[in-house]
Amino acid sequence: MSKYILDQENKIDIKSLSFEELTDFIKEIGEPAFRAKQLYDWMHVKQVRSLDDMKNIPKSLKEKILEKCTYTAHEIVQVQESKIDGTKKFLFGLYDGNVIESVFMKYKYGNSVCVSSQVGCRMGCRFCASTIDGVVRNLLPSEILDQIYAISEYTGEKISRIVVMGSGEPLDNFDNILRFIKLLSDEHGMNLGQRNITVSTCGIVPRILDLAKEKLSINLALSLHASNNDKRKELMPIANKYEIHEVLDACKKYFEATGRQLTFEYSLVAGVNDSDEDANELSELLSGINCVVNLIPVNPIKERQYKPTDHTHALKFKNKLEKNRINVTIRREMGRDIDGACGQLRRRHLEEKK
Ligand code: SAH
Repeated sequence: MSKYILDQENKIDIKSLSFEELTDFIKEIGEPAFRAKQLYDWMHVKQVRSLDDMKNIPKSLKEKILEKCTYTAHEIVQVQESKIDGTKKFLFGLYDGNVIESVFMKYKYGNSVCVSSQVGCRMGCRFCASTIDGVVRNLLPSEILDQIYAISEYTGEKISRIVVMGSGEPLDNFDNILRFIKLLSDEHGMNLGQRNITVSTCGIVPRILDLAKEKLSINLALSLHASNNDKRKELMPIANKYEIHEVLDACKKYFEATGRQLTFEYSLVAGVNDSDEDANELSELLSGINCVVNLIPVNPIKERQYKPTDHTHALKFKNKLEKNRINVTIRREMGRDIDGACGQLRRRHLEEKK
């Protein structure tokens, strides 16, 4: 049984099993293989919240499964809906009492969900609310999927893009993220094209290289936020471990292995990384790399002093990059009226509980 993912009660986390593993498991407990297909369909296509909802599965099999397995499903603790742009932010309760947040965003070309990969985060980025109390634990593949399934049920809307840009560092939970991606793109499940999945990282070099070896077709986004290593260190402690050129080289290798265009995220912080010199240095740093820079004025959090670059200045920064032939977009700031930034809703909830 050790090949199956075990949750904290040493039971098999059935929703984290691949289709093949589920089939093996079903055969091992003396049931016919077609039951695996039915179960997988209930879990990952119909996305029901419990075994009770599975109509064509015999009670005896459900009992056998519950003896050996856990079946995760998130409780909705809170939903905040933006009046500006239809963004919805969800606070979910996990089986062990932890809470995580996820975001539903409506775009012209389809709906996106932003999922969390860990409870908290240990990367320490200075402007980010998720990391203030460190990491609590990794999320299981099932717990990452459940964020999407619960949002799909609540909104009744089709979800066509997934971004792993919520709380946590996905590459610090590498195996579970990989399994999550495979489950999400499995033809027996949601069957979401990997081109519609983006993983964002602060830049853990060995794990970027590991990801490149997997030869997936998911998109990689790197949180860059600075045009040289000294500045990056001030904002992101990870820059003490991996130098900026080393990180960019790993990203280039990812591009060579997958052919997927890279995204560099750059949160504009007033007076810190938004000068003309910053724009020029950034252009030089990225010249020749097949990439797009995603600018977003930093979302201020009350625990830190950082202020966002104003819109006019952000446009100037964008123009400067464009003049230097860098592809660049300014990200729409979604859901600013509802604690839009990573980890803000969860923090507020924990503080209110105290
Ligand atoms: N750990 C991953 C993914 C989570 S954060 C990473 O570092 O990429 C998703 C993105 O939001 C990252 O680019 C992160 O740097 C950025 N971010 C976090 N807090 C922010 C804030 N308050 N304002 C603007 N961007 C923020």
